Amino acid sequence: MSEGRKFISGIIPPKEKLEPAWWFAFQGNKLLVYLESSSVSIPNLVDFAELGLEVLREHYLGRLDNCYCYAIEVAEETIPPEGMSFEGLRQVYDRLDEDLFWVAARAVQIVDWERTHKFCSRCRAPLRNSVTERAKECPECGLLHFPRLSPAIIVLVERDRKLLLARSRHFQPGMYSVLAGFVEPGESLEEAVVREVKEEVGISVKDIRYFGSQPWPFPHSLMIGFTATYNGGEISLDNTEIEDAGWFTVDNLPHIPGKISIARKLIDWFLTKQEKPPRNI
Ligand SMILES: [Zn+2]
Repeated sequence: MSEGRKFISGIIPPKEKLEPAWWFAFQGNKLLVYLESSSVSIPNLVDFAELGLEVLREHYLGRLDNCYCYAIEVAEETIPPEGMSFEGLRQVYDRLDEDLFWVAARAVQIVDWERTHKFCSRCRAPLRNSVTERAKECPECGLLHFPRLSPAIIVLVERDRKLLLARSRHFQPGMYSVLAGFVEPGESLEEAVVREVKEEVGISVKDIRYFGSQPWPFPHSLMIGFTATYNGGEISLDNTEIEDAGWFTVDNLPHIPGKISIARKLIDWFLTKQEKPPRNI
């Protein structure tokens, strides 16, 4: 988040709607925004009902500075009001205020959780919201259901002045990135780094250091970033996930992910370390 505005998570909504709030309204995973010439903005209204749209679900998120924030789900067939549009989060990243973008990244996950956690997975009773934490509780058996969060490691591996980049079959044509993978139950983050790199490209790594983390709401990951150093082996692609991988220098980089991602922050960190300015796009 940029300096200045701070998001404070909360679960108890204000008793009355008396002042303008931010409304993060989703149709599926698409966010309702006002379209402006080169940017987009979020409705800032006392009550979302002012827009006259049918609301399926409303969930209080907390405050951005002193402004209340709500996640809303509207019906699939909702037609956006004049001057507004439903847009994917990746499509609005460059055009929406960054603080609001990251609250939207929370909101989309809460809306998805509300949509997919209506009944207890143990006894099938309808769930209700907990009043003490962001969870749903089963009134019959007491089981708690928290929003889904899937931790994944992402790691930049260095070898001399080169970095390891790989291409997943799901990437857009020509795109390469650092390696990433989900953490397994019972595994430490460092163990996940070692396992993923070995599984995906067949090499071993050492000097695993924490870099930073980033929510990745596509749909509910938490990316935990690391750097590591090559420690032996040759690249081999036994895994069906990766279709190409190799060592790249700062002068022969392929197409890399956009600025939104922690993958790009890792690559930019490496470029800066090689005294190469990060790319603008
Ligand atoms: Zn239950």
